[in-house]
Amino acid sequence: MIANTPSIRRSTHRVVVRWKDHAVQVGGGAPVVVQSMTNTDTADALNTALQIKALYLAGSEVVRITVNNDAAAQAVPYIREQLDKMKIPVPIVGDFHYNGHLLLQKYPDCAKALSKYRINPGNVGSSRSRDDNFAAMIAMAIEYDKPVRIGVNWGSLDQGLLARMMDDNGRRAEPWPAEQLMYEALIESALSSAHKAVELGLPADRIVLSCKVSQVQDLIAVYRELSKRSEFPLHLGLTEAGMGTKGIVASTAAMAVLLQEGIGDTIRVSLTPEPGGDRTKEVVVAQEILQSLGLRAFTPQVIACPGCGRTTSTVFQELADQIQTYLRDQMPIWKNTYAGVETLKVAVMGCVVNGPGESKHADIGISLPGTGEAPSAPVFLDGQRSVTLKGDNIAQEFQKIVQRYVEQ
Ligand code: SF4
Repeated sequence: MIANTPSIRRSTHRVVVRWKDHAVQVGGGAPVVVQSMTNTDTADALNTALQIKALYLAGSEVVRITVNNDAAAQAVPYIREQLDKMKIPVPIVGDFHYNGHLLLQKYPDCAKALSKYRINPGNVGSSRSRDDNFAAMIAMAIEYDKPVRIGVNWGSLDQGLLARMMDDNGRRAEPWPAEQLMYEALIESALSSAHKAVELGLPADRIVLSCKVSQVQDLIAVYRELSKRSEFPLHLGLTEAGMGTKGIVASTAAMAVLLQEGIGDTIRVSLTPEPGGDRTKEVVVAQEILQSLGLRAFTPQVIACPGCGRTTSTVFQELADQIQTYLRDQMPIWKNTYAGVETLKVAVMGCVVNGPGESKHADIGISLPGTGEAPSAPVFLDGQRSVTLKGDNIAQEFQKIVQRYVEQ
């Protein structure tokens, strides 16, 4: 049989990331969760709260913030308070490096206001203090009943562990090649830390793992192996994915392969924003990856042809763009009112070659006239030809048809 669906999702523990009664489930068969990270100075509590709000409204189900110093840790409870006042229930995750054990112990209100702690086992302290510092962070997670992500990065891998593994590798009859040593070291760091956390008393269903690297093939190789060796939910993401189309394409290429194989329980698309760029773009890209793979539905899809020499006007590109923006803008209202609206398919096509065919296959479609065609645009609803639009107000009239269709 020819199948058009992703593989069965890999079985994992289910981890609940919650703020009060708002719970986000990661793994255990739950839909793949979209998350993102702020790039404000966390000490600037108001701007951080506003960016979290924007990310949440764009669709981020969990938002991570940097907690890197006293000022940031002190700001966290105030950020949470501001979000609660704005009725933004999104769980916030504290991203800790180097001094997380100190900050969590020194600022209990910060520890309580966060919904999850990210621990990087590669930089939780010097080689002498690492175990104690790691244990201190796990103790705080146990005390405040918080899940953790044990997040390993190739760029900040535990150098002591890597040195030991290199020594062991040198003694092998057939040493691993460099890439395999890198993959094994990443996986070992994540798994040994997770097992240590369990030994320290943190339940296994409070642990999410990640092993981030910046190259597509490395990410695929590491996560395929990591998924075979554990039942912890996995956070997928290509770190330092890059700017613009490069970051989007690299993240999509890596994550699509893994998600298609049933690997990955939460994703973040890490895009370097252009100066003044919109941070919410990473949320939109993450949603589009999941929706394109048929794993989740967030917003109605616009199917638009690329245009060619058969259409010399830009009317249909403009219409496709307007409809896409309109649908996305309406979703915050529609999603609570019209069940299933996010699965809607709207076709906006440029000429008679594929226009009527694609429009019939969509829920709503319009086939605009190409060069030399009669100046009329037939509209299709549920595969049936409906009205024909003409004149200068095709865009507005089609938008009204979409609105009426949704309401009905
Ligand atoms: Fe070109 Fe028509 Fe195909 Fe659009 S539908 S790409 S205008 S041939």
